[in-house]
Amino acid sequence: MSGEFDLIEHFFTWESKTASVVQGVGDDTAILDPPSGQELLVTTDTLVSAVHFPDNTDPYSLGVKSLAVNLSDLASMGGRPWCFTLALSLPDYDAAFLTGFANGLRETAEHYGITLVGGDTTRGPLTITIQAIGTVVRGMGVRRCGAQVGDLVFVTGDLGAAALGLERWQSQQNPSFDRDDYCYTSLHRPVPRVAFGRALCGHASAMIDCSDGLVADLGHVLDNSRVGAEIRCSRLPLCAALQEEVQQDPQQWRHALYGGDDYELIFTASAGEVEIIAAIADQLACPVSAVGHIRAEPGLSVLDAQERPMPLSGSGYSHF
Ligand code: ADP
Ligand code: MG
Repeated sequence: MSGEFDLIEHFFTWESKTASVVQGVGDDTAILDPPSGQELLVTTDTLVSAVHFPDNTDPYSLGVKSLAVNLSDLASMGGRPWCFTLALSLPDYDAAFLTGFANGLRETAEHYGITLVGGDTTRGPLTITIQAIGTVVRGMGVRRCGAQVGDLVFVTGDLGAAALGLERWQSQQNPSFDRDDYCYTSLHRPVPRVAFGRALCGHASAMIDCSDGLVADLGHVLDNSRVGAEIRCSRLPLCAALQEEVQQDPQQWRHALYGGDDYELIFTASAGEVEIIAAIADQLACPVSAVGHIRAEPGLSVLDAQERPMPLSGSGYSHF
């Protein structure tokens, strides 16, 4: 195999059975036939080597993660994944890398029913940009601006495992760190809450996915909704490894509060929705925790494990 077109043909031209994709990879643009009665959700996320992932991340995980982070954005609006494009910059032609990456990407795409419809391939520092398009029933997208005073604040899954995984990976504190370790897989192979996000349409008042940490991302909901919130550390869902860490050192709460890359959903809903949300969570086997409530007083207040107000620092990752 030689050249850019062979590379695209070999690794990124997949059989698609989606009738709504009239033209996929192989022409100047894709041609898409949007489903009637639906609005389109469009999002893009770039992963840059050494900025968004350690440069020794395995290629399969990179394929999974680069799509998963975009799927998480669709999920946070209550959207259904439809199709995506892939702009890939590679330092060189590396068949082993491309095979692993394409496998991770393709398995994730098939699992969530999203089709690759085009992209761009260039030489340069390893950078992966995916643009994903989803659909949502007209008017039903869940925004950041809908939280109301008195609503409860919920999070899916658990928080802080990816940040703990990154810290352990970087410090090599545990030289035998297992690639199937929960914190490592949380960091490198996040599971976007697609089905659950969709099911929350009409039930959640506001929603965001947690990519920059709970404090920063809940902060965006509060700012957009012009409300405040109080959350309790004692209610925050933690994995077993982080639970152990916080018991030994309360500083470790920082992973759950400020750590990024969890790709869980943070959402608000009125007390009247609690039962239905619990039933949906049960049906979809998606853990959900109520961690606090929305109040009129602006800003976020976090109570520590002893119910004392915690001073907050930082506001999540910012590139500039
Ligand atoms: P153009 O020169 O018209 O931009 P390209 O030569 O960049 O076209 O790409 C040829 C075809 O391959 C297009 O359909 C494009 O969408 C697709 N393509 C290029 N790179 C990728 C990729 N990494 N993944 C999927 N499709 C790709
Ligand atoms: Mg091009």
